[in-house]
Parts: sequence; structure tokens; C-alpha cells
Amino acid sequence: MKIAVSGCLLGEEIRFNGGHSQDRFVTQSLGEYAQFVSFCPEHLAFGTPRSTVRLVEDENDGYYIQSSDGEVDVMDKLLHTNNIELQKIQNEPIRGIIFKSKSPSCGLGSALIYRTNGYSKEKDDGLFVKMCKERFPLLPMEEEGRLNDPWLRENFIMQLFAYDDFENFKASKPTMKDLVAFHQSYKFMLQAKDEVMYRRLGRIVGNHDKLSFDEILKKYEHVFKTIIAEKSSIAKNRNVLEHMAGFVKDKISKVEKEMLHEQIHDYANKIVPLIAPLSRLHMFAKKYSVEYLLNQKFLHPYPKELALRSDIKSGK
Ligand code: SF4
Repeated sequence: MKIAVSGCLLGEEIRFNGGHSQDRFVTQSLGEYAQFVSFCPEHLAFGTPRSTVRLVEDENDGYYIQSSDGEVDVMDKLLHTNNIELQKIQNEPIRGIIFKSKSPSCGLGSALIYRTNGYSKEKDDGLFVKMCKERFPLLPMEEEGRLNDPWLRENFIMQLFAYDDFENFKASKPTMKDLVAFHQSYKFMLQAKDEVMYRRLGRIVGNHDKLSFDEILKKYEHVFKTIIAEKSSIAKNRNVLEHMAGFVKDKISKVEKEMLHEQIHDYANKIVPLIAPLSRLHMFAKKYSVEYLLNQKFLHPYPKELALRSDIKSGK
């Protein structure tokens, strides 16, 4: 899987002062499963070290780029290198982008906008982020600052791997039967994000309008990628866990049933992390060969070594 990442997060010494902002989760944990495509529109435009730039409000409620050394055509230079970096990303089978927070180029909702009087006004997307969002509207994107939150981190990684899974599925020249199987395998993960949209997706697969398979797949892709961008919650996960428990309730003993429901209850009350009731369900599904559960992506949405569901704070 390829992910585009702000070069400074990868340890490249390209920040304005010649330093870097290496992020261990990105380089070490994610690095086990992804190849990175680095970008840095500022380094490409001005080299390193360089004067700092900042975003200043304009009269149309937007902003322009100002350099601390008074250089006048910084905006044009940056727009040019932004386009070069965008093209580089587009040329690769990218499954997501991770940006460096607070940067006027790379901040995702965290770039400071200054008033013309020099005071900061509000936060917005940096210039490069804005262009990425326009070019790749459904691509998973996050910034490293937000990835310190276990809940946002888990949701983003889940989205990233689901997006990758769909792209690989699409490339496998699937049939309608394959799409039905793909959809079934995502049932609980999608329900944990948006039950209403999940049902809408089911109607697309049902194909009551007798569309061609290409049209169905296109519609499916749009809704699927929209749902996986949503965040799950403890309440929604709890519903899904109860639903999954229904698949083993006639096979397990009374005591096992009590223990399972106690763990789901403890998860809902933030006493144990999601991995606790999930592991128990997984074990029952394996013991009693409940294939429908074993095939669920919700049980294994990404490599278990990332251990993101072991953190009690990964639920909100
Ligand atoms: S422009 Fe982006 S990639 Fe380059 S140093 Fe700044 S934050 Fe890092």
C-alpha cells in the first residue's frame, strides 16, 4: 500500500530551518505495511533552509501566502510546486495522505490564517491540503497531530485499509457475485459507521434499477468510500457486537453467554477496550466455524500488530 506523507514527517531535513519532524507512528508502525511517497511543496519552491511563509486573509474570505523576507511572488511559486507534487501523488496508486499539522502548506484544518494587522484570526486547511482535497475528494487524509488521538487514529487506519481493500477488489475485475460477497464482508464495519448509509449501499447491490455492473460498481464505490470516512462510536460498536453475538448465541453455554455480554457491557462503560469482547467473539466464531462472522472485516480491519483497539481511549 502506498501513502503520500509530508516529507518532514518521514525524517527528511526539509523544514524551513533545516530540521525534520519525524513521526514514529508513521515511519515505524505504519512503515511495516506501507511504502511512502514523500512531498514538500515548500522545499521544492524555495529550497532549505528558507524564510518562513504564512497565510494572510484576503478581501474575498480566502487567503494568500506571504513570505517573512518580503519576497513578492511566493504564492505563484508555491502554486507551481504544489501542482508538481499533486501530479507526483496522482501518478502513484496512493491510498491516503498524512500531512504535517500546523503548516501553512500541510496543516489539515490547523494552518493559522493571519489578519493583515498581523494577528492570527482562525485555522483552516493549508494551501497544499486544499488542493489535495479538490483533486482527491474521497481519499483518506489525516494530519499527524490528530493521529495522536487513539480514536481518530483507529478510525483513520480502518479507513485507509478499507480504501486499499476496495481498490484491490476493483482491480481484480470482480463480478456481481464478488460484489455481494465483498459487501457482506463489510456488513458490521459499515454498520458501525453509518447504519442508514449501509442500507443505502445494500439497495445499490440489490440493483432494482437494473443498472449495468459498471454503473453499480461506480455508485457503490462512492457510497462505500463515503461511509468508511465516517467515525465509529462506542454506541454503534456496541450494537454491532450485540448483533454479532446473535450468531453464536445458540452455540455457546449459558456461562459463556453471560461472560460475553458482560464484556460488551464493560466495553460500553469504558472498562475494557474493544479488543476484549471482539477476541471472545472471534474465538467463538472459530470454535463453532461460523464462517459469516469469520469473514467479517470488522474482526480484522487491519494488521492486528497495530493493536489500535487495545487502547481504551480508541472508543468514544
Ligand atoms: S511544506 Fe509540508 S512537507 Fe514541507 S516542511 Fe512544511 S510541513 Fe513539512
